[in-house]
Amino acid sequence: NADTAMYNVKHSGKNNYMFYSTEMKDELRYRSQIETILREALRNDGFQLVYQPQVDVKAGNVTGFEALLRLKEYNIAPDKFIPVAEETGLIIEIGRWVAKEAVNQIASWDSMGFETKPVAINVSSKQVKDYGFFEYLAQILSESGINPDMLEIEITESILLENTEESMGFFNGVRNLGCRLTLDDFGTGFSSLNYLTYIPVNKIKLDKSLSDKFLGFKDAKVVNSLIALAHSLDLGITAEGIEEWSQYEKLKAGGCDFIQGYLFSRPLGKDQVEKIYDINFVDRIRKQLDMDANG
Ligand code: C2E
Ligand code: MG
Ligand code: MG
Ligand code: MG
Repeated sequence: NADTAMYNVKHSGKNNYMFYSTEMKDELRYRSQIETILREALRNDGFQLVYQPQVDVKAGNVTGFEALLRLKEYNIAPDKFIPVAEETGLIIEIGRWVAKEAVNQIASWDSMGFETKPVAINVSSKQVKDYGFFEYLAQILSESGINPDMLEIEITESILLENTEESMGFFNGVRNLGCRLTLDDFGTGFSSLNYLTYIPVNKIKLDKSLSDKFLGFKDAKVVNSLIALAHSLDLGITAEGIEEWSQYEKLKAGGCDFIQGYLFSRPLGKDQVEKIYDINFVDRIRKQLDMDANG
């Protein structure tokens, strides 16, 4: 299995110089193997999207999903293969596939009679700067006939650092198409809060590292202030990477709007999504915790 071979990197470790150069070679080999896998996946329908539910904090039900990219045949995390896709430029073609697949999925759930809920896709800086991607989005949205409001676009702070005319054009363009725009991984980078006053985002997503401040006895003041800041700018706010009920309770008390995390659900295949589409996750987890507590 190619996967195991790739992870089974052996180092001699005796000679420092040798160790270093072996590691560099392994790294290069690893990257070129991933590149090959990505090219093959593009040719042979080797990608798939999984969908992680986002839960409305007050109501407890599913309000939308984040689409996350997976390789069907390989257990390689996006944090490993997305950077390779970006460096090689393959992200352009992969990103189009992601957008098309998400739009098709929204249309398909529509036609099955499910109440439409927004699906978010992640978009890289190379895509934001590629005018062709914007045109492609406009085209597939109009062909699909879905409400563009059901497609949400997640961008990261690192894109804002580059703050080019092209990226501003993309942000305004997708908003004009009617899509939602979300600032992902908020609080990890160079958080200039000033962005929030001129980038036309609808929502910010607090990074897991910030939400983790609600674990244990760590200070939650930063998170609560960010929630208040978002609301003062009329933005929605999602906390991601939530794994503990205690985090849910504190975020609810702090006024956070949406939660995404393993506490409620891992990312799911589309067939599994159809089974949980209308459930109330908060009620479900609360009952489970009650049952656990009462033996
Ligand atoms: P992200 O956009 O910040 O996505 C959230 C990540 O956190 C996902 O990892 C998700 O599975 C994970 N996660 C959610 N809840 C929890 C939790 O409670 N605990 C923990 N430990 N993790 C949780 P994933 O799917 O491995 O994706 C990693 C990153 O790869 C994404 O971070 C995103 O930046 C990127 N990515 C994924 N799919 C795409 C894509 O289609 N296009 C682009 N450009 N990037 C993508
Ligand atoms: Mg994201
Ligand atoms: Mg994120
Ligand atoms: Mg991330």
